[in-house]
Amino acid sequence: MLDDVDLLVCGAGPVGCVLAERAARVLGWRVLVVDRRSHLGGNCHDAPHESGVLVHRYGPHYFRTRDEGLVRYLSRFTEWIPAKYEVRSLVRGTLYPFPINLTTLETFFGSKLTPESARVLLDREREKIDRPRNSEEYVLSRVGRRLYDAFYRDYTLKQWGRPAADLDPEVCGRIPVRLDRDDRYVDHPFQMMPRAGFTAMFRRMLRHRRIRVLLDQDFREIRHLILPRKATIYAGPIDEYFDHRLGRLPYRSLSFDFRAIAAERVQPCVQINFPGAGPITRSVEIKHITGQVHPMTVLSLERPGDVGEPYYPVPTSASRALYERYRTLAEHETRANRVYFCGRLAQYRYFNTDEVIQEALGCFRLLQQRFATGLDRSYSSRLQPS
Ligand code: FAD
Ligand code: UDP
Repeated sequence: MLDDVDLLVCGAGPVGCVLAERAARVLGWRVLVVDRRSHLGGNCHDAPHESGVLVHRYGPHYFRTRDEGLVRYLSRFTEWIPAKYEVRSLVRGTLYPFPINLTTLETFFGSKLTPESARVLLDREREKIDRPRNSEEYVLSRVGRRLYDAFYRDYTLKQWGRPAADLDPEVCGRIPVRLDRDDRYVDHPFQMMPRAGFTAMFRRMLRHRRIRVLLDQDFREIRHLILPRKATIYAGPIDEYFDHRLGRLPYRSLSFDFRAIAAERVQPCVQINFPGAGPITRSVEIKHITGQVHPMTVLSLERPGDVGEPYYPVPTSASRALYERYRTLAEHETRANRVYFCGRLAQYRYFNTDEVIQEALGCFRLLQQRFATGLDRSYSSRLQPS
C-alpha cells in the first residue's frame, strides 16, 4: 500500500502530465501517474520508427491553438518549430487542396474564379438549410451536394462507420471552407510543433522529484490499493471507470500501417485524404512537419474500425445522452471520493490537444480552489458547455 501519494493520476497523456506537473510544482503535492501503455504522451506519443524516422504512433498530431497563454505555459517545456499543415484530397485521380479553397473550386468546376464569383457559385450550389441538425446538413448548407459527395460523404462513412447524417454538425464543422488560396488545414493563429517532439515535451513536464510514473500499469488493478491524500485524476474512458454499468459508449478506433521507404520524401504534403472507395482514410508522411533530416521516410496509412483502442468519442445524440448519464455518476464520484474526470475519453468530447490542456488547467484551478477553501465543487458540472 502506497500511503504517501497526494494525487493519483490515471493516464500519462496531456491531461495527466499537465495535472501532475501543476500539482507537484504549484501545490507541492506528491503525485503518482499510472498508464497502462509503456510510454508517456497518450495519443500524442511520438517515437522513432525502426527505420529511425520519428513518427506519430497514434495518428498525425498538428499542434494548433488560439490561446497565447497556453503557448507560454507549454514553452516552459519545449521549444517550437514553425509548421505548415497542408492536406490534399484525392478525388477521382486528382489531388485537390483540402479544406476546399479557391483552387479546389477552380479545379473541381473547371473555371477561373475570384472570391466574388466563387461566392456566387457556392450560393448556387449550397442547400438552404438554416439550422443544420447533423454533419450532412452542415456540409450541404455550406457547399452543396456535388462537393459533399466528392469530398465528405464517403470519407465520413469510412471514418465513423455511420453516415454524416447521424453525426453532430460539429464533426464536419471542424473543416473550414475558404474563398481564398489559403491551403493550411486549420485557421488557428498558432500552428507549430514541439521541436524535440511531443513525448519529449511531456517527459520534461513530469521531470520533478515529487512525481513518480508507473508505466504498463492498469489503474483498475491498483485503484483499491492506493488512497491518495487529496484527489484522483481519471483520464481514461468514463464508461470503463464505472464498469460499463449503464452500457458501453461507442468509440471509433484506427489501425495504423507504417511503411518505411528509402527516399527523403514521397508525398507532396504531410497528409493525403482518400474520400473514395477503399478502407484507408488517409496517408500521413509526418516528416513534413517534424523537421527531421533523414535519408528515409515513413508513411502511416489509417484504417478506421470499431474494434481496438478507443481513439474517438462518437458525436451522436444517442451517445451524448448515454454520456450525460455517466456524467451524473462522475459528479457523484467527484463529490464523494474526490475523483476528477478530465480529458477526451473521460469527458467524452472530441477535444484537440490544446483544448484538453485547457481543460486540465481548468481542472487544476478547481483543485486549487477546493483545497484552498475546503469547498466541495463538482468539476464535471462546472466545465460542461451550457
Ligand atoms: P489520451 O491522450 O487518450 O491519454 C489517456 C491515457 O490514459 C492513455 O495513455 C491511456 O493509455 C491511459 N489510460 C486509459 N485508461 C487507463 C487505465 N485504466 N489505466 C492506466 N492508463 C489508462 N489533437 C490535436 O491538437 N491535433 C491533432 O492533429 C490531433 N490529431 C489526432 C489524431 C488522432 C488519430 C487522435 C486519436 C487524436 C488526435 N488529436 C489531435 C487529439 C489528441 O490526441 C487528444 O486531444 C489528447 O491526446 C487527449 O489527451 P488525454 O490526456 O485526454 O487522453
Ligand atoms: N472529413 C471529410 N473529408 C475529409 C476530411 C475530413 O469528410 O477529407 C470529415 C470527417 O467526418 C472527419 C471530420 O471531417 O471525421 C473532421 O476531420 P479532421 O481531419 O479534423 O479529423 P481528425 O483529424 O480528428 O481525424
